[in-house]
Amino acid sequence: MKNEDSTQRLRQLGITPTVQRVMIMDYLRDTRKHPTVDDVFHAVSEKHTSLSRATVYNSLRVLVDAGAVCQLTIEKQAVRYDLFDKPHAHFLCRICHRLYDVDVTPGTSPGRIVEGHRVESATTYLYGVCSTCREITDEQRKTEGDHA
Ligand SMILES: [Zn+2]
Ligand SMILES: [Zn+2]
Repeated sequence: MKNEDSTQRLRQLGITPTVQRVMIMDYLRDTRKHPTVDDVFHAVSEKHTSLSRATVYNSLRVLVDAGAVCQLTIEKQAVRYDLFDKPHAHFLCRICHRLYDVDVTPGTSPGRIVEGHRVESATTYLYGVCSTCREITDEQRKTEGDHA
């Protein structure tokens, strides 16, 4: 079923659904980890051992260019990938460096015409302290308060 979806989606976007591209799409669809090229390579090459890192890299580039996958540059040190199914914003925690999908719709969405320009992608990056880290910091503050 899943396989069918990815194949279908690639055809719609006018790209040939090669085995590698479909596998990468399926992997990205299943994970909410926002993997890097290395993560994608490790995960996909487990099932498809003949796959090279260069092939993964090239396939990702084709998928990004076609608008099937979105490239996140929320962190300077690593480019991450995400399936571009529904517009959402990304939140990066400055304490644990975890990346979250958040349901904040960007003011402008793909397909909209803004002052004559056609928007193809819109990315919102949010930075701060995530809910888990906020709880921990609050806990510490409480304990420290008890000791004082
Ligand atoms: Zn955090
Ligand atoms: Zn995401």
